[in-house]
Amino acid sequence: MSKYWNQRTRALSPYIPGEQPREQKFIKLNTNENPYPPAPEVVTAIRNAANENLRLYPDPECLELRTAIARRYALTPEQVFVGNGSDEILAFAFAAFFESGADLPVLFPDITYSFYPVYARLWDTPFEMVPLCDDFSLTIDDYDRPNGGVVIANPNAPTGRALRLDDARLLVEQQAARGKIALFDEAYMAFASEPGSLVGYVNEYPNLLTVHTLSKAASLAGLRVGYAIAHAELIEGLRRVRDSFNSYTLDRLALAGATAAMRRSAYYDDCNRRVIATRDRVSAQLAALGFELVPSSANFIFTRHPAIKGSGLFAALRERGILTRRWDVPRIADYLRVSIGTDADMDAFLAACASII
Ligand code: PMP
Repeated sequence: MSKYWNQRTRALSPYIPGEQPREQKFIKLNTNENPYPPAPEVVTAIRNAANENLRLYPDPECLELRTAIARRYALTPEQVFVGNGSDEILAFAFAAFFESGADLPVLFPDITYSFYPVYARLWDTPFEMVPLCDDFSLTIDDYDRPNGGVVIANPNAPTGRALRLDDARLLVEQQAARGKIALFDEAYMAFASEPGSLVGYVNEYPNLLTVHTLSKAASLAGLRVGYAIAHAELIEGLRRVRDSFNSYTLDRLALAGATAAMRRSAYYDDCNRRVIATRDRVSAQLAALGFELVPSSANFIFTRHPAIKGSGLFAALRERGILTRRWDVPRIADYLRVSIGTDADMDAFLAACASII
């Protein structure tokens, strides 16, 4: 606490990101990074962009990247916004679409991405956390009431559970009937077992904002690129907020790398199929060890063991050089979220679990 902090800074409760250890001695299963490298063309594009043109500002329209994204989904660049990671886009979305000091709260589940309440507090937006069912599934009827907007991570984090596409659509329609936004954060959609993305419906629903990231599905957590897809008017709203803040949120290297990544979807489909296969294999092996698992549609699993507390398991794994993630909050304190690594990483994880249990 400093006497120079203003009221807003004093009141903040910042998000705490997962540990990024400086030494390489850990098997890192704690921040849902992709275990496979980015496509070689991505690294080449970044190298090629590291030239004397760095003296010039990047394109504030990010047109080449937005065009590459639009092409992937058969949409127009006016329906695409890009940002410095999807976290930044989420922060802009809370600022652009939810009212500060409103009577009606923005709704999101009690167990979901823990950045949502941080953004809500940052912009002084009232919010309410709607309890998930005991099995962490979501009932859309719970959201069928007056609200200032709804935010859903689908698949959800840290539970890994996905909402069915028809339920997701129904939720958007409920929100449309109220004239309110439905924000769907699809950070983990590339790992879902069933098609569940709402991207194909942005022409149908002007109140639908979908948010995506290259951090997980495109192995580019280190580049910081995310994108939103929505009706052009929502995209313009995000743009107004961004340009009241920083017109150049993506640098030349990030633009080059991300554009190359969007053109290499076949490579990434292959990597992500491997992640899914490893996830399903490890889930079955953990179940055989007596672990309880939430069915995962993401690149991580959410699990607990009846014989050991979450804090004990987390610490014992860490001692064995394996980093996982855990939240010391009600309902999930005994669960660990374990990102899916390579098969070798996961074999080491399984061996450690077997020895601890
Ligand atoms: N949404 C969800 C649900 C996440 O888990 C994450 C990763 N922490 C993000 C968004 C942010 O991803 P990024 O800023 O790397 O795009």
